[in-house]
Amino acid sequence: MTDGDELEARTVGPEPTEANDRPTAPERLPVDAVETFLRCPRRYEFAHVQGLEGTDVDDRPLEDRVALLRTAICDALRGVGPEPGERALLEAATDRLEALWADYDERFHSLTQRRHERRVLEATLEAYVDAVGVEHAAGIARLNDELDADGALIGPELPLSSRISIPDETHGTSDAVSIDAAVDYCYADGSSIVGVRFVPTLRSLGLLRYRTDWEGAVAEAFTDHFDPDADAFEPSFVGALFETSVVLDGLRDRCERLGLEDRTCRYVQIPLAERSQTSVNWVRETVETSLEPIDLTKPYIDHHTYGMTHEHRNRTVDDRLERRVASLAAGDVDPTDRWDEISSEVCPDCEYAVCCGDYVAAEVRFDG
Ligand code: SF4
Repeated sequence: MTDGDELEARTVGPEPTEANDRPTAPERLPVDAVETFLRCPRRYEFAHVQGLEGTDVDDRPLEDRVALLRTAICDALRGVGPEPGERALLEAATDRLEALWADYDERFHSLTQRRHERRVLEATLEAYVDAVGVEHAAGIARLNDELDADGALIGPELPLSSRISIPDETHGTSDAVSIDAAVDYCYADGSSIVGVRFVPTLRSLGLLRYRTDWEGAVAEAFTDHFDPDADAFEPSFVGALFETSVVLDGLRDRCERLGLEDRTCRYVQIPLAERSQTSVNWVRETVETSLEPIDLTKPYIDHHTYGMTHEHRNRTVDDRLERRVASLAAGDVDPTDRWDEISSEVCPDCEYAVCCGDYVAAEVRFDG
């Protein structure tokens, strides 16, 4: 975004109160607000305290198409009978996509492009059914039978939240902030309940895409992000681990309320717009693609905490999440501590640069 007019009002977070002259903690926050805070605390302030929402118009069509697929798949999973075959599930999802596509009003350059994008979406449905769809539908049926839930654990956008306590040592009180996340459906897999979230791509996960253990490279990269001497800045990677912590805690809470407290929880992301996996034959007008879901539980859990709690947790990540939420709730939004990384890696693409005093002051210094 390049124009301040494209900023629009949104929810307002912490505000100073006369009683204690410190910001009151927000009662709830989406988990992506915490990731924004990691990226740049001033950006968090613009988006979630002052209520200005940046509009990243470039990402909108991609997200809208993923939303179509998300709805088509969830409706198909809800509508087909228990344990459908590949063909029945694919037909249900494709029919639903066709109905959604008829009302889809994205502006394409030409009819040819519109037809091509539809073929990409259909190929993605096929890849989903082939990779995991039938297995997940069977797991949903098992869960439905067990709970008599009748599709209640199929979204899209099933809300989950994790409550984080923030002690206020000065006033001897504590606030709690609910961090909100969502999954698109849950299914049973052995002794686990798995939350599945459809995302556009897995690019932002960085190292998490290639590692299946916390111990070693993942733990080091996480610790380095918070070490001022380590010269590391990985907000997306750290944000994904925070999101995993929030989703797993939210799933545990749901399981407890459903009488499933003996289950462990897992969090899987499925990318639906990973164009690097897609091949197009322009002569035959065909598209092929494949999906590679990722189980974020594996690089998240640390075996020491698991041994102590028998739950999929990571004390290092959870502690850091609490500390970041405490900073955020205290209104600690000065980006100076990490200015070198923020100014070189975040400011160049920031929607708020046009109204950001830190950025403008740095530019003036540079020009002068
Ligand atoms: S312009 Fe830079 S300092 Fe200002 S909010 Fe954006 S990322 Fe943060």
